[in-house]
Amino acid sequence: MNPKLDDLRRRLCEVGDLRAAACVLHWDQTTYMPPKGAVSRGRHIATLERLAHAAFTDAAIGTLLDDLQPHADSLPPEHPDAALIRVARRDYERDVRVPADFAAELEEHAAASYAAWIKARPANDFAAVRPVLERTLDLSRQLSNFTPNARHVADPLIDRQDPGMTASEISALFAELRARLVPLLRRIAAAGGNDDSAVRRHFPISAQRDFARRVVALMGFDFERGRIDDTAHPFMTTFASDDVRITVRADEHFLGEHLFSAMHEAGHALYELGVDPVFEGTPLGDGASNGMHESQSRLWENFVGRGRDFWEGQFAHLQATFPDQLGTVPLDDFYPAINYVQPSLIRTDADEVTYNLHVMLRFDLELQLLDGRLAVRDLPEAWRARYVSDLGVEPPDDRDGVLQDVHWFHGTVGGAFQGYTLGNLISAQVFAAARRALPDLPERIRRGDLATLLDWLRHSIYRHGRVFTAAELVQRVTGAPIGVDALMHHLSRKYGEIYGLD
Ligand code: ZN
Repeated sequence: MNPKLDDLRRRLCEVGDLRAAACVLHWDQTTYMPPKGAVSRGRHIATLERLAHAAFTDAAIGTLLDDLQPHADSLPPEHPDAALIRVARRDYERDVRVPADFAAELEEHAAASYAAWIKARPANDFAAVRPVLERTLDLSRQLSNFTPNARHVADPLIDRQDPGMTASEISALFAELRARLVPLLRRIAAAGGNDDSAVRRHFPISAQRDFARRVVALMGFDFERGRIDDTAHPFMTTFASDDVRITVRADEHFLGEHLFSAMHEAGHALYELGVDPVFEGTPLGDGASNGMHESQSRLWENFVGRGRDFWEGQFAHLQATFPDQLGTVPLDDFYPAINYVQPSLIRTDADEVTYNLHVMLRFDLELQLLDGRLAVRDLPEAWRARYVSDLGVEPPDDRDGVLQDVHWFHGTVGGAFQGYTLGNLISAQVFAAARRALPDLPERIRRGDLATLLDWLRHSIYRHGRVFTAAELVQRVTGAPIGVDALMHHLSRKYGEIYGLD
């Protein structure tokens, strides 16, 4: 019974509706839209973004937030009203500094650069996107400059995705991770002896789809509240608390592509579907951060989907789906095959051990581009040099080099990559906490009972939406700050066993 709070909610809901409409257009753009629709689609999305931005940065919202601050101060910080006012104010103060025309220009440019990238990547044509990327970098710096007093030009861009985190804090975490990861990778490479031939056979795509749908249903994905479609670069998007969309891609010669991208994106979807529905249409109705979101996709993909316990229960079903390909393959060969460690060119195909090396080099390159140490024209060469020095592999072309990720071609340079590795760190911490809280979890996963884990995650993390920051959630759920130990413990144990390291 607070008319000002009702007014704030009504206005925020309108902003949310405009953004949801833009999400539908973006989802369609990357799934079903014919290629030549790209130019007008960019305009449609830009118009919605302009309207959403104008509605959200309306001075009336600032006044309402000021008027409601005493109400927020009278409540405990985790109270939904206090959280709503705090989070809305945080977003408002960030966005009110950005002119509406600039916000729309950024959206329009993002749509145009996506259209350029989708053509340039298969054509291996970096020159075609170079001017687009130079413009993106320029716009990214301008966006950053709207935030005063940033210590690093990347900080405001990082803060948009992983609120409260900074380039220097992340660089320190990443330096520690790299220092511990590289020696483990060397020991695995020296041990050798595995391969992934068991999952690199011909697997008809329709059967792959059937199996993946069965697995995501087991995870608790509700096909009445979401759907799965194909795209070039898999992602998840939310239109409403009862309508989430997963997009995936499939490779008929590699079993891991479709299955693990489906589990990954379904993990993101379970997070969104688990947010308390009372937060729908408010800034609280979303995941806490990119890193927190990624921690859930990676938890389901790696800690469940690439875990031995899961396959103890599911491998017979997979063999029944692919009797010719896997009927005579023992689980003892299949399990190392889905956990085959090999430095490779493509981030999204990377194993758990090398994955973060891909992410950390992108993060470093982003910082260098933003602070002017690296020019866009020198990026392909810098990329190649880092792959050689960090992973020991040399990209033969830009298609599988600097052009492989959509991120720099559908948003800003800066802020897009750190969340992947933060997510891996957090996933290990959260899964370890789940195992402490649920002592029979491995046995349940073996039996195909994933509902117990989902319930625990919903209760511990998902339902809170953005009430807590990622750092607060990790502290609450695991009793420790975001750190490197849990992931390194997991990787050393799991791969020590697979590769017979002592
Ligand atoms: Zn993800």
